[in-house]
Amino acid sequence: MNVTEIQDLGLTRQREVVLQVIRDAREHLTASEVFGAAKALLPSISFATVYNSLRFLKESGHIAEIQFGNGASRFDRITSRHDHAICTKCGKLVDIEMEHPLELVERAAAYSRFQPESLEFTLRGICPECVGKD
Ligand SMILES: [Zn+2]
Ligand SMILES: [Zn+2]
Repeated sequence: MNVTEIQDLGLTRQREVVLQVIRDAREHLTASEVFGAAKALLPSISFATVYNSLRFLKESGHIAEIQFGNGASRFDRITSRHDHAICTKCGKLVDIEMEHPLELVERAAAYSRFQPESLEFTLRGICPECVGKD
């Protein structure tokens, strides 16, 4: 994940900056968080440009968009299938990369009588930083 790789994608400077923000982020950022970080790198960038760049990068498969419940969309640098853990205290969203037990997929498919394509797993709980705090 280096700068050369991003420059090789043939993106406009604004799109490069937005992609760089998402790739460098340790968290899954919302559009307004991406805007804040992009502005620090490119002060002239507008929210509309950030928003349009996010749309473009998502449609071209460079980033993924995820949504939980009614919360704002967040943007993810991992575009392949993966799961998430969410802290119910601070809202931190962490990636989990693991295989699902086949039995779980089969049981869900049998129950719904759906032909399974994918399964998403979300772990909700208290993150290490929030444990023991109140
Ligand atoms: Zn937390
Ligand atoms: Zn993720």
